Amino acid sequence: MPSDRESDRLFPAEPSVRAIARRLYGEVRDLPILSPHGHTDPAWFSGNEPFPDPATLLVVPDHYVFRMLYSQGVPLESLGIPRLDGTLVERDSRAIWRLLASHWRLFRGTPSNLWLTHALAEVFGVRERLTTESADRIYDRIAECLARPEFRPRALFDRFNIEVLATTESPLDTLQHHRALRKSDWKGRVITAFRPDPVVDPEYAGFASNVAKLGEMTGEDTTTWVGYLRALANRRQFFASLGATSTDHGHPSAATSDLPRAECEALFRKALAGDVSPEEAERFRGQMLTEMAGMSVDDGLVMQLHPGACRNHNPDMFRKFGSDKGADVPTRTEFVRALKPLLDRFGNDPRLSLIVFTLDESTYSRELAPLAGHYPVLKLGPAWWFFDSPQGMLTYREKVTETAGFYNTVGFNDDTRAFLSIPARHAVARRVDCAFLARWVAEHRLEEDEAAELARDLAYNLAKKAYKL
Ligand SMILES: [Zn+2]
Repeated sequence: MPSDRESDRLFPAEPSVRAIARRLYGEVRDLPILSPHGHTDPAWFSGNEPFPDPATLLVVPDHYVFRMLYSQGVPLESLGIPRLDGTLVERDSRAIWRLLASHWRLFRGTPSNLWLTHALAEVFGVRERLTTESADRIYDRIAECLARPEFRPRALFDRFNIEVLATTESPLDTLQHHRALRKSDWKGRVITAFRPDPVVDPEYAGFASNVAKLGEMTGEDTTTWVGYLRALANRRQFFASLGATSTDHGHPSAATSDLPRAECEALFRKALAGDVSPEEAERFRGQMLTEMAGMSVDDGLVMQLHPGACRNHNPDMFRKFGSDKGADVPTRTEFVRALKPLLDRFGNDPRLSLIVFTLDESTYSRELAPLAGHYPVLKLGPAWWFFDSPQGMLTYREKVTETAGFYNTVGFNDDTRAFLSIPARHAVARRVDCAFLARWVAEHRLEEDEAAELARDLAYNLAKKAYKL
């Protein structure tokens, strides 16, 4: 396959439009990567140990990869995905790699194909297609690279030209790796993001004990509503002191509430006692979004809302392997009424910035673009998760731009656990945006100099501003 520099991948086929897309991509191809939302492991960068082997690096952490294989009958055990009960799973990295290679055709037309092919070519110089025949050759090449110092996490981070990378941690995390990074002499900027789901969602496993632990960590009495809120504000402060600029909320819906204090206290008591109905849990989570917005007004952390995943849809899988194993499925999501209580309270406050994502594409033009095109606090996160794909991104631009414009969006998020896919994902996003802009230039909806400025804004400036990086 041609290198990213030579390739016209994802550009329009019509030659004159393709030429515009190519010029626009030339403006952004070498810009630094801002990765303000993702799930890489900070231990990689604090420890800087070599990545152990190809499967551990490229297969085991990537739920996009193993969900597809699982859907075609490949057991997760044979891909080395650890089981919660300690049952032995495949440990032979080469066997896992061969299994991937022998099923590689399944990924035709998926973004996983684009990402892995890009990583193999740009990171390891592999130009041949992954097949049963090439599997061992490619495996050996990757393994040999990983043993070299220039393939350690920090060296790759620098080579990928990453300016900032955010990870995501629970308030109960000690942030030991982030603290170690702060003390190290490496200049790479890895920051955390505050993800409080384990202590604000009464339906989260271990909620009451999590809240008790939050109390121990902060010296606050988290058996009371006021002490609980103080403890959360305290942990947010701690995260911000280690570089966090944002919070992230992975709620099942976008519901928000703004309840009288007595009702908050009563709901909190019931939640701690494990005695909330599903409706009460929803109201409590909604109240906590509004509380978090209030805290953002005070401490300046940008708020991200990631609603609409029906998590752990497959109970047998959840029992055996736990969460984040590719068994999460999008649900229909409503925003206009759901966000109203929070917006009624804070929607015009210039100190708040709320970035909203969706897994429901039908809400782009009907709900989200109109909301973001009005409320100063609201911005739209990029095409997310199942829509982090060429068609997903194109649909997003087509559905939101005419109402929200480009400047109520926030650039790209790779949102990944797969470190090596980061440059690939940003390249795809930049290419799709350039393809979109090129069409609009060709149709005289934009001048080319405006499109060039937009390409740079979408690739870099908007994320930098929206996430205060
Ligand atoms: Zn995420």
